[in-house]
Amino acid sequence: MPSHSHGPVIDLRSDTVTRPTPAMRQAMASAEVGDDVLGDDPTVIALQERIAQLMGKEAACFMPSGTMANQCAIRAHTEPGDEIIAHGDSHIIHYETGGPAALSGVMVCPLSGAAGIFDAPDVEHAVRGNDCHSPHSRLLIVENTHNRGGGSVWPIEQIQRVTSAAKKHGLRTHLDGARVWNACAATGLKPADYARHFDTLSCCFSKGLGAPVGSAVCGDKATIVRVHRFRKMFGGAMRQSGIIAAAALHALEHHRERLVDDHANARRLADMLREIPGISTPLAVQTNMVFFDLAPKLGTAANFAARLHQRGVWMLATAPQRMRAVCHLDVDRNMIERACEVARELAGADTPVGAR
Ligand SMILES: *Cc1c(COP(=O)(O)O)cnc(C)c1O
Repeated sequence: MPSHSHGPVIDLRSDTVTRPTPAMRQAMASAEVGDDVLGDDPTVIALQERIAQLMGKEAACFMPSGTMANQCAIRAHTEPGDEIIAHGDSHIIHYETGGPAALSGVMVCPLSGAAGIFDAPDVEHAVRGNDCHSPHSRLLIVENTHNRGGGSVWPIEQIQRVTSAAKKHGLRTHLDGARVWNACAATGLKPADYARHFDTLSCCFSKGLGAPVGSAVCGDKATIVRVHRFRKMFGGAMRQSGIIAAAALHALEHHRERLVDDHANARRLADMLREIPGISTPLAVQTNMVFFDLAPKLGTAANFAARLHQRGVWMLATAPQRMRAVCHLDVDRNMIERACEVARELAGADTPVGAR
């Protein structure tokens, strides 16, 4: 863990910053491996079987990143000139470098809706008629939990409604479930309860679950054959990848139950931050993410982030006055409270009597 003159760094930039635990490193060190491009790495095979089973799908394909997982799924479902329907704040639009256009030659029709969530009439309205002028509406993508929506959780009934609307019009459906584990921890639903509404889903092992690398795409056999082909085309086929698959397997078995702790820490963090004059939390904390806004008197988010960083508290500025902090495996309750104290000091607020 990096340290700092004020003690260990409290890194709240993302849940991707976690270091593998000693037990995870042990699992990696002792992993049996083969050559996954030749199809005989037993640990990758075991991971793919395990994740497919957890999701209630026929097959799965291990991926180097969540971005590649989404992009291979998009490529597998579409042809150039097709259109995807997704929320305008979605990860595939903002953080995947224009991948849908560059790699699949598709357009994205952006929907609006609070916290990254839309409903069936929005889908109905976006689906295009079948004439020679229009792109083909081909694929609906739902992101759960929703990153830019503040780690928001889709109500399962609403997932059922939007995917039914899509299917009625012959669209395929994909869940960007990078943080579907957090949705499960928040609702008590099983991953398969979400997955059953979609043709394919991607999920990430290197965020809340704490593995160093890796994601997966799950779906029916025929679609996963295509996903696997595009993974190769995009340069993501790996050799002795059992080493990292072992970390993902370990994370699946050992790090899912504890996600509720991250959610409790995030609520605590938001509660403490909200008490600081000039700080507000515009998005409800539903999972492990906290977004907070700074009043102009506290300076810009970039400046606040830089001052926090000097004091060993790392967060991201995501807009001129907006900051993001994410709770994860490597931050405990004490670190959360320490981070708030530092924020309080920087904001020039007195420590409340009860907290002295
Ligand atoms: C992080 C993330 C991804 C994938 O990101 P990688 O950094 O490529 O692993 C995809 N979708 C969402 C919603 C994410 O938060």
